[in-house]
Amino acid sequence: MPKRPYHLETLALHAGQEADPTTQARAVPVYRTTAYKFRNSKHGADLFALRELGNIYARLMNPTNDVLENRVAALDGGAAGLSLASGTSAVYFSITNILRAGDELVSAVNLYGGTYTMFDAILPQQNISVRFTPINDFAAVEKAVNDKTRAIFIESIGNPLLDVADIAGYAAIAKKYQLPLIVDSTFTPPTLLRPIEYGADIVIHSLSKWIGGHGVGIGGIVVDAGKFDWKNPKFALYNEPDRGYHGLRFAHDLGDLNPVAFALRLRTVGLRNQGPTLAPDAAWQFLQGVETLPLRMAKHCENALKVAEYLQKHSKVAWVRYPGLPGDPSQALAQKYLPDGAGGMVVFGVKGGESAAIKLVDNIELFSLLANVGDAKSLIIHPADTTHSQLSGDAQAAGGLHADLIRLSIGLEHIDDILGALSDALDII
Ligand SMILES: *Cc1c(COP(=O)(O)O)cnc(C)c1O
Repeated sequence: MPKRPYHLETLALHAGQEADPTTQARAVPVYRTTAYKFRNSKHGADLFALRELGNIYARLMNPTNDVLENRVAALDGGAAGLSLASGTSAVYFSITNILRAGDELVSAVNLYGGTYTMFDAILPQQNISVRFTPINDFAAVEKAVNDKTRAIFIESIGNPLLDVADIAGYAAIAKKYQLPLIVDSTFTPPTLLRPIEYGADIVIHSLSKWIGGHGVGIGGIVVDAGKFDWKNPKFALYNEPDRGYHGLRFAHDLGDLNPVAFALRLRTVGLRNQGPTLAPDAAWQFLQGVETLPLRMAKHCENALKVAEYLQKHSKVAWVRYPGLPGDPSQALAQKYLPDGAGGMVVFGVKGGESAAIKLVDNIELFSLLANVGDAKSLIIHPADTTHSQLSGDAQAAGGLHADLIRLSIGLEHIDDILGALSDALDII
């Protein structure tokens, strides 16, 4: 332990790593192995019985992933981290690590398109139903909670209008009903926001976005705050003996590890028996992103604010949303939760509606037209006919998705080049 707690910039470079004892390698090595030798039979038996923690098989654990997990957990102020094959699997396996058939989830409605479809169409096939509520409508949340509810789910900055969630408000309701609060914080990496400080129990990031930061791979991570008490019998997966783990009750039988029962169950049931493992090469790539995350996030935020201010003044722009923009409906929440920058996303509509929006998207230079966010390069998309096209018209309207909405993920290019590209494209329409 350092003499004094390190700042985020320092943690991003050092947390979770001890120099490789054999080689003294400074960088984190990639451990390309499928399995790990036991010292002897007793050692193997102890590892399998969780009497001793250690490496068994790389579907469950890998020293490269371990550094990534500990580092992101340190940045988020959590007790344990677990990397998974994608942000989507991080969401899915977090839900099914708590809920089983017959249980219900209460979720904010304005979600990442893939998550909305998972909640609306996939989870119900498994008899897990999701009650959607408008963001920050706490009366609606309390109305949706019932004796089948097992968790509350929100995104720190919602899709597509970039509304900032009032995490402390959600945490108060979660606490009142003894429910864990799950926050997908992909749009606000830990250098901008640490949801655990406001009462979140579980934090999820898609590593594919800003944490990786270079658009080169798919991955996800879950951080367990280590504060939720799973002993309430309504959490059957934690209180009933687990047949897949010789009768272990995760809320009771883990000794010192009981505070991180969620993360340990996600590893020993989710990874072990369902298999959404992140490859160590991908984990290594994401670690490179983490090292420069504080620098990059500051620049993403600086550029995005300048873009929002530019668009707000442009005569062909109908409306702009950026949480850090003076006058934005989310500005007060952004001042509270995002004092170091309101993220890299800007959404806006142009005068002339959907056809003008498509014309702009088809003609802009520099910005790449594609379905991704959080790349170092600037990206653009028209969500109504792409990322959110699976949503019905009603669901699009409920989520605030206007047909003219253009979504920008602002990159790290020189701001004059970004504004120049936008200016030229707006001239065309
Ligand atoms: C991208 C994203 C996901 C899904 O992550 P993948 O790594 O693409 O599976 C989930 N939530 C949010 C907010 C995202 O932006």
